[in-house]
Amino acid sequence: MKITSIETIPVLVPIRRDLAIRSALGGVHDRSPFLLVKVQTDAGLVGLGEVSCTPRWSGEDQVSAAHFIQTYYAPALVNRDPTRIDEITREVFPLVAGNTFTRAAVEMALWDLAGKAAGRPVYELLGGKIRDAVATKWSISGAAPAEATEIARRAKEQGFLAMKVKVGLGVDDDVARVSAVRAAIGPEIRLGVDANGGWSDPATAIGAIDRLRPLDIAFVEQPVPAGDPEEMAEVRRSAGLPILADESIYSLADARQLARASACDVFSIYVGKSGGIGPAREIATFARTQGIAATIGSNLELGVGAAAMLHLAVAHRGIDPDRYPCDIIGPLYYEDDILATPLSLGHGRAIPSDRPGLGVELDEAKVQKYRV
Ligand SMILES: [Mg+2]
Repeated sequence: MKITSIETIPVLVPIRRDLAIRSALGGVHDRSPFLLVKVQTDAGLVGLGEVSCTPRWSGEDQVSAAHFIQTYYAPALVNRDPTRIDEITREVFPLVAGNTFTRAAVEMALWDLAGKAAGRPVYELLGGKIRDAVATKWSISGAAPAEATEIARRAKEQGFLAMKVKVGLGVDDDVARVSAVRAAIGPEIRLGVDANGGWSDPATAIGAIDRLRPLDIAFVEQPVPAGDPEEMAEVRRSAGLPILADESIYSLADARQLARASACDVFSIYVGKSGGIGPAREIATFARTQGIAATIGSNLELGVGAAAMLHLAVAHRGIDPDRYPCDIIGPLYYEDDILATPLSLGHGRAIPSDRPGLGVELDEAKVQKYRV
């Protein structure tokens, strides 16, 4: 099998107005300028990928992603065997530095093709399932307490047993929001907070955590800005709560630095941040060697990107959704699903398709509808 061309399709699927995410990253995530990728082959098989690019996250958007794919990756990939994923990862993806969500889209399409060619789901290529379903949590916007409470109540009704609330938007507001949510959902729901680096320094983070601790907080995600593992380590030493690293960890090198600094208890891994399923798997394996847990985070993937995360999550022992439920919930935030058959993501558990490859198929009419 040889790659013949790569098609890129920019889409804009609206996020449900009541679920748009306000966070310390600034502004509101109410639209996703994503890019769908189809890797065509001479065997007639098509590999699907998704650049879940949000400029605020990684400096990529659907224009930059399409440019790098068509200008640099496609010429180097045509006539290559798409199942030689490791070789392509070493020889082709370094043609463009950074832009990890862009390279992840192409890489997941290669896994999709490898699975389709073998007639096996991707999780089998990754060593096979170690769990049938992945526990997930709901993510609550950094909204006013009444609105945040309403979102939490609906998530509980839908069967979510774990949630996180966006904080880092001002400590008094954070405490008011998390208090209201805790009061609304009761003591039995596991509740974490995600500051997205919004507490500007360790002292602010430690002060905020001291005020949140009585609310029975299960974890604190990215309390301080990325870039200085020592700062996160300082927060961790005094927090007495599990610390998740998210914006701090894209690469395996980031993971090593965080581990050396004893900066966190949990890595939040995304297929997009690390540049593909393969590099994400390497970080999860490294986590295991360090006694650090891993979970899967999200920047509101559509169905293809969420499927890639799900295959990894069911097949890797380093990922521990039972202790740290994953954020594989992206498609539920959108007004519409672009997959012909939506992923099974309800009731706080995500289940991958058992069809070959990533096991997902685009609803082409919807892709046309949301194409930009
Ligand atoms: Mg996060």
